[in-house]
Amino acid sequence: MAGPCPLCRQPVAQLYHRDKFRSYYQCAGCALVFVPAEYHLSPADERAYYELHENSLEDPGYGRFLSRCATPLLKALKPHSQGLDFGCGPAPLLAKMLAGAGHRVELYDTFFLRNVDAMQRDYDFVVATEVVEHLADPAAELERLWARLRPGGLMALMTKLVISRERFASWHYIRDPTHICFFSERTFRWLAGRFPAQLQFADSDVIFLRKTCT
Ligand SMILES: [Zn+2]
Repeated sequence: MAGPCPLCRQPVAQLYHRDKFRSYYQCAGCALVFVPAEYHLSPADERAYYELHENSLEDPGYGRFLSRCATPLLKALKPHSQGLDFGCGPAPLLAKMLAGAGHRVELYDTFFLRNVDAMQRDYDFVVATEVVEHLADPAAELERLWARLRPGGLMALMTKLVISRERFASWHYIRDPTHICFFSERTFRWLAGRFPAQLQFADSDVIFLRKTCT
């Protein structure tokens, strides 16, 4: 059994795909595709996996990859905004790019930088690149981040989106054992309604959720 959806908590989920490693279920409510907890890595194994696949500050490919998020984000931000890079990893290149443009960026990472103080402050923006697909409890983590945003603030997420069941079956993204949640446009429309937020797809894998001022 898949258990309730980790995003909208609805109990009904149907088998979406199965490969030789894991089963993937899709929620009937928010369309999230998720891997049941029995297939999740232990925190120690998860950390070891990240250390093995560490991105480098000097890697130009990583910089180009992150610029897909940084470029539209920098356009959307007011000068000297205060933000949080959640799940920055051991090499916080995006924060460096944003700080270089005059913004103040706090860092937090569950495995590499447990900056508890950063999770108590309020921000003009919160950015999480390649994070939400790793979350065992996306509802709790996204709510926690959303609560840190000031009215009018922007949540910028970067994650690859589910397109179709056929594409999913041959998708390299699902081969990563730390990827346990797969969002789609429909899932983000559900989330925008839930928060509520203004939703914008800034790139094929970059999602902006703006907190309405009311
Ligand atoms: Zn759901």
